[in-house]
Amino acid sequence: MDQARIDSLRAQPVAPVQHIIDGVSRPASDGGTMDVISPLDGQVLTQMARGTARDAEDAVAAARRAFDDGRWAGLAPAARKAVLLRWAALIEANALELAVLGVRDNGTEIGMAFKAEPMSAAGTIRYYAEALDKIYGEIAPTSPDVLGLIHREPVGVVGAIVPWNFPLMIGAWKLGPALAAGCSVVLKPAETASLSLLRMCELGQEAGLPPGVLNVVTGEGGVVGQAISESMDVDVLVFTGSGPTGRRLMEASARSNMKRVYLELGGKSPNIVFADAPDLDEAAKVSAAGIFRNSGQVCVAGSRLLVERSIHDAFVERLVAAAERMKMGDPLDPATNAGAVNSLRQLDQNLAFVAEAQAAGRRVLTGGTRILEETGGYYMAPTVVADVDPADRIAQDEVFGPVLAVIPFDTEDEAIAIANGTDFGLAAAVWTANLSRAHRMVRRIRAGVVHVNTYGGADATVPLGGVKQSGNGHDKSLHAFEKYLDLKTAWIKL
Ligand code: ADP
Repeated sequence: MDQARIDSLRAQPVAPVQHIIDGVSRPASDGGTMDVISPLDGQVLTQMARGTARDAEDAVAAARRAFDDGRWAGLAPAARKAVLLRWAALIEANALELAVLGVRDNGTEIGMAFKAEPMSAAGTIRYYAEALDKIYGEIAPTSPDVLGLIHREPVGVVGAIVPWNFPLMIGAWKLGPALAAGCSVVLKPAETASLSLLRMCELGQEAGLPPGVLNVVTGEGGVVGQAISESMDVDVLVFTGSGPTGRRLMEASARSNMKRVYLELGGKSPNIVFADAPDLDEAAKVSAAGIFRNSGQVCVAGSRLLVERSIHDAFVERLVAAAERMKMGDPLDPATNAGAVNSLRQLDQNLAFVAEAQAAGRRVLTGGTRILEETGGYYMAPTVVADVDPADRIAQDEVFGPVLAVIPFDTEDEAIAIANGTDFGLAAAVWTANLSRAHRMVRRIRAGVVHVNTYGGADATVPLGGVKQSGNGHDKSLHAFEKYLDLKTAWIKL
């Protein structure tokens, strides 16, 4: 990556941003704005529209009109595909600009952000563009005097509420299949990561998305997000974020039009290292990256390390060394391994988790502190807490920071009991050279994805979704279409 180019982008002022409603850039209905604070230095980066409920309703109305008149859903699939492919190309052509803007807003290290944000988003949109004209209806095996046709139709207006850790990647996981299916969308980015996602959506307009098909309303979750979730005219709501907000969205659906609600709510993912792991050095390095990259602000982060007791001390020593080798700091330096914590609120929350564990007698082996405070930014040292009890809050609740809880185990059964002993079920990993054990563990761990001898790194071809209170429904892969396409039967008497 070209540091000089990154530095010149970093130095550019960021113009204030507004909603995109019905293809037009618009301020909030009451003119309200909010400061965008950069976690790199705690300074105001720019202002964005502080959306109102009225803005959300206008955006839903625009999406409804666009859907009902068929300006997008009614196009030949090849025409929709051409627009989405152009959009993917535009995102790639502007990848570094998008990545740097996003990093200044949310703090992810640029090395990861460049790949995981614009490049991954472009790949996702291209994947669904290419898939959209390969979806067929069905003919049912009925008796010969009738014809049972099964059509697949776009569900209509989709509300998408997304978080701040990977706004482009997760945004594209929703927008790609929703738009490819022919739906119209009202998108609500997170308060602390709206800029790059808005810019990506502007590129969508440039690529030829008709007005009203993709609307973006910025502002507070409790106002804009809530209005979307309570709308009588949103057919499907898709969300990635915290459990408490997910619960509110289900309640809002029940109170309003019973829209379908698909939630991805994070996890407390167990990373399980057996004594027979093929390469303990590799396991330590990958496990450290699996929790500390993006300062732990990753929904699938391996935040609980379960280590077989016979190798516990030796392995934890390697892991602490790997954590201490990580280069923390300036997210716009490509050599940085983990950048800023997204907000002061999140940093305080992370530190409180560690303080509570410490007060309960758990051992902080490394980290546990705010660092680089002189920058004005929000940074935290990679933190390893040992002697954790599986029932501790630090082993049960999602910290969403660079904090690893280490728990020893003796047997496979005990590892399974600990692994499955939380309310979550998003991701997991198993490190073992024993093929049978690997498959047994994959079957017995209750999670949407189980990695074996690696952590993370899946691509667009496989689904991601949680079980238990990690959510429902799936992003990525062809299965994501299931959220955005309805089945309709035609029963024809011959
Ligand atoms: P976090 O606490 O990590 O920021 P949230 O679940 O609060 O996670 O945020 C994820 C997304 O949900 C953000 O876009 C946020 O604005 C939105 N959000 C927050 N509260 C609500 C709410 N009451 N209704 C709808 N959306 C909300």
